[in-house]
Amino acid sequence: MSRSNKICSLAQARFRNYARCHEPAEYRVRATLSTGREFLIYLCQSHMSHAWALAEALLERRIDGDPDARLECISFHQLKQARPAAPKSVASRAA
Ligand SMILES: [Zn+2]
Repeated sequence: MSRSNKICSLAQARFRNYARCHEPAEYRVRATLSTGREFLIYLCQSHMSHAWALAEALLERRIDGDPDARLECISFHQLKQARPAAPKSVASRAA
């Protein structure tokens, strides 16, 4: 695993009630299901307050043969992210 910066999960996944987001992720959210399964979401500061709703939305998509799976808990880890103040030779991929 590289330590490359994560981007808010809303950059990839589409959610009905949320616009796309390309902010750097500031939190890693671990969602634990009633079945014991877990998955991770990465969220920026502003989407952090929606973590539960977003986890539930993702859960609905990820259930395969697990109709009883429910979101049991979520936990947060703040990512220690030194924002690249002056990248030396790496050009940004975003135009
Ligand atoms: Zn975001």
